[in-house]
Amino acid sequence: MFEEILPNIYKIEVILPQNPLRALNSYVLKGQKRNLIIDTGMNREECLTVLTKSLQELEVDLANTDFFITHMHADHSGLISYFQTKTSNVFCSQIDAEMINLMNSDEMWNNMHKFCLINGFPEDELYEAINNHPGFKYRNRANIIFQTLREGSSLNVGDYHFKCIETPGHTKGHMCLYEADKKLLISGDHVLHDITPNLMLLSDNDNPLADYLKSLEKVYELEVKLVLPGHRKIFQRYQERIRELKKHHQVRTNEALQILGKVPQDAYQIASQMKWDVRYNSWNQFPPQQKLFATGEVLAHLKYLEEKGEVKKDFCAKRMVYQREARSLWEMSFGL
Ligand SMILES: [Zn+2]
Repeated sequence: MFEEILPNIYKIEVILPQNPLRALNSYVLKGQKRNLIIDTGMNREECLTVLTKSLQELEVDLANTDFFITHMHADHSGLISYFQTKTSNVFCSQIDAEMINLMNSDEMWNNMHKFCLINGFPEDELYEAINNHPGFKYRNRANIIFQTLREGSSLNVGDYHFKCIETPGHTKGHMCLYEADKKLLISGDHVLHDITPNLMLLSDNDNPLADYLKSLEKVYELEVKLVLPGHRKIFQRYQERIRELKKHHQVRTNEALQILGKVPQDAYQIASQMKWDVRYNSWNQFPPQQKLFATGEVLAHLKYLEEKGEVKKDFCAKRMVYQREARSLWEMSFGL
């Protein structure tokens, strides 16, 4: 259930049933005085069982164990309250720490509901989509007192000396940990190897794709020999993977641009015409929750295009609709 990746660094594969991500990688770093657990899995029985058993086998004393949460998503933060003890520090960025606690309020889900309706999501599907949202269903349930970290903060465990790198994009407060001597990057969901981290626009004030591209550039020059990601395989081909991720978003942005014409459409309509790498044959077969992720991702691309002046947005008949600017280019390039 766990494997030793490097001396005193263990990877626990925490299964995520019926989820395309398949599993979360939780890392356990054992130190002489204190241990560190990086990310926890969702607040559901299956995750709890795997993690409990592995931590027992690894003989981790939770009283001497701290937690680092790469970002707010429930598959990373869902079980904090089960495993933290009175003597545990729980580290996270300020922004995502607040979001983890906010996930327990109606406010956040009501705002998401309103935002999706404005963007064309049908109300009957939306109810189901939010109720089945993993962030709603499997979130951490207790209020957590976090120790917040920021760019450049240090985290030391045994022989490992990490610095925090703020990498907004996948979430606004996403953070990676970098070990310069060992050329090791704990990448959370910022850089994944065999899947593309999902980007979602959930508030009109954000521009997650612009943030994400900037954060990819920020970490590109780091000397990295091994990446320990939040999902799937550990890998080495670091810069090449970053270029692929940029390329992916360039292709997706251009695809959205092609679908946009002179007739205004909402984000839900645009999402229904995009090509999605899923096992469903048509948009109608997508479960509502999958449609929510797709619409959120399209919105991230539309926001990017809007700020670049390629797309204009109007509020019409209670919906936000998008169309190309008259002078819009046919291709966007991310400078690859
Ligand atoms: Zn995530």
